[in-house]
Amino acid sequence: MKCWICGNPADTREHIIKQSDIRRLFGRGPYQKGNRLKRMDQNQTRKLIQSEDSVHIKYPKNLCKHCNSARSQPWDKAYDEFMEYILRNESELKRTRKVGFKDVVHSDTSRFTTSLYSYFVKAFGCQLQENGQTPPLELSEFLLDKGDNTNLLITFAIYESMPKNSASPMVQIHPLEGDVENVTKKPLNYNWAVSIEWFTIIFWFNKVPAVELGSPFSGKTGNIDIGSYKERENS
Ligand SMILES: [Zn+2]
Repeated sequence: MKCWICGNPADTREHIIKQSDIRRLFGRGPYQKGNRLKRMDQNQTRKLIQSEDSVHIKYPKNLCKHCNSARSQPWDKAYDEFMEYILRNESELKRTRKVGFKDVVHSDTSRFTTSLYSYFVKAFGCQLQENGQTPPLELSEFLLDKGDNTNLLITFAIYESMPKNSASPMVQIHPLEGDVENVTKKPLNYNWAVSIEWFTIIFWFNKVPAVELGSPFSGKTGNIDIGSYKERENS
């Protein structure tokens, strides 16, 4: 397998859910019986995650070492800072439903938001590849500084229909969905989401985000509105 970002041989695994998210929310593993983290996927199958190094939260090898470390380090760091801010300010964010990036980092906000967006581009490309889809070239070009923007928009929403009966903390990887062109069957767009406890990150590729799911983020500074995510009934 080749690294989908740069084309070199892929020899490392990217986390589906970042190890730091797992540690921040649930502490360090191994997790005790009865207190194991659950991952739910599209088939509603639950996988118990016994430590933050579990293969259930990693992709198959899909990135080269350079892209998965040096190149993506600033992106990962921005994401960590963002999630720390989000989880630390849970009650305020649930009330105001707004994030101002200058409250997350106090200097060089524009570099921060570009890095944060790059993290989401990387995460989304890895998810496409996991689902047997070819990540569109514009994603890797953006990450390699060969392009200024992509058709990927991110929105953030409170996970209103979070299963409440779960005794253990939960991360949920929602199904990748999309439309294909009638004749050629080529993919036209994609939609994907990840919930980390009450906070849901929604990915829109070539699609206009639904207004109630938050205002779109494309790496630019400013404020974003946090939307409201309710899972649809299974169709
Ligand atoms: Zn690479």
